[in-house]
Amino acid sequence: MIPVQGVEGQTLAILGLGRSGLTAARAIREGGGVAICWDDNPAAREAAEGEGFETRDLKRAEAFEGVASLIVSPGIPHLYPAPNPVIRAALQAGVPVDNDIGLFFRSFASAGWDEFDTPPRVVAVTGSNGKSTTSALIHHILEAAGRPAQLAGNIGRGVLDIEPPHDGEVVVLELSSYQTDLARALTPDIAVFTNLSPDHLDRHGGLGGYFAAKRRLFAEGGPDRAVIGVDEDEGLFLAGQLAEGPGDDRVIRVSSGTKLSGPGWSVFARKGFLSEWRKARQVASIDLREVAGLPGAHNHQNACAAYAVARALGLAPRVIEGALHSYPGLPHRSQRVAEAGGVVYVNDSKATNVDAARRALSAFKRIRWICGGLEKEGGLDGLAGETGAVAKAYVIGREAANFAIQLDVEAEVCTTMANAVSRAMAEAEPGDTVLLAPAAASFDQYDNFEQRGLDFVAEVERRLAAG
Ligand code: ADP
Repeated sequence: MIPVQGVEGQTLAILGLGRSGLTAARAIREGGGVAICWDDNPAAREAAEGEGFETRDLKRAEAFEGVASLIVSPGIPHLYPAPNPVIRAALQAGVPVDNDIGLFFRSFASAGWDEFDTPPRVVAVTGSNGKSTTSALIHHILEAAGRPAQLAGNIGRGVLDIEPPHDGEVVVLELSSYQTDLARALTPDIAVFTNLSPDHLDRHGGLGGYFAAKRRLFAEGGPDRAVIGVDEDEGLFLAGQLAEGPGDDRVIRVSSGTKLSGPGWSVFARKGFLSEWRKARQVASIDLREVAGLPGAHNHQNACAAYAVARALGLAPRVIEGALHSYPGLPHRSQRVAEAGGVVYVNDSKATNVDAARRALSAFKRIRWICGGLEKEGGLDGLAGETGAVAKAYVIGREAANFAIQLDVEAEVCTTMANAVSRAMAEAEPGDTVLLAPAAASFDQYDNFEQRGLDFVAEVERRLAAG
């Protein structure tokens, strides 16, 4: 745990008692402060009370008397579509609103660091897609290189839950736009922007607000190095704003598909090869085509971003290359779960939107595509023309028939995962990939995308075991 600094003798209010809220309350107590807690859910309040925390209904401004700040969980809206009443009350009372990320950044460095040879560093990763993969990959590369590292944030542990860092340790944080929007301190040493596509627009009042929330990670703290995906206008703009000129190597530009050979520092992937350029010369190249854990152009973009961070931390290209090959992948993201009779089975249940599914479809050659579920806003238009590698679709979900007629490929209505896996397996030929990439949310049939992915894996394994 990281005890929160500067709260001795103070009272802080906590709104939202999920994982990050409860951890924040504990870390405040550890730092000598008092945490008073609120959650609309009585069970969550009981859990906090069970740990000895006072609970208080915070919906009125008077409740904030003597409160130094309000710490908010990422799932709770602070502005759009409308502020949560507790947050509005805090603002009316003039009480600063913050979150666990803000507390983390102001508490991370400690007096003990004076004894260290190398101060610990923080790498923070944001973007619309690829955050988890990029963060996990950076963490994996560091571990493979024998560097102490911890992974936290939106992935894995809450930020205040990590161990106090060792000499030379690197903490890798995955940060969502909800988290970067509110944090009052954001001072990573290296910050990464993977890419931008429309998402969560209701929470940010549109695309501009969404971009602004992510941009804070770069504008507030001024990281020593910024690794920026420049394939969209927003990334290009951000890189331009942060750099003093084209040769400024505090910015490392990253692309999937475009050659970046200017005077600055860049890492890009083209035709399956990663290249690093510096001062208009290529300094390293890696063949990504045989890197099994990172298939497709989208994963090559993630590989470039992680490579850039590792280089900025002083690792050699060959060491990074070895680590890319041993990256095991994350569950539910391009996860290779089995291979039998020349057919490969891939679980990309995390492809819950059209953009993510489109990327997954471009990563394999002949696909038996398991898709469907609860359709997202905007429909399936973004898939038109992107299904060239699909031999056939096997559609799941309560509205499978309606989903199937919107596809521009041969589609069979299977409704259940068991049916879909059985039909895809029966028709697959050697060289095919059976790919779960639903392009839809899972909530019509499952609690979450993880359960859907696990169901896919279980069906595949059961049938392969039965022969
Ligand atoms: P996040 O944490 O940002 O949601 P993940 O690494 O969990 O990102 O990947 C989520 C899904 O998005 C994956 O299943 C994959 O289909 C897709 N994806 C991964 N990386 C990228 C990328 N760089 N660009 C576009 N889509 C991606």
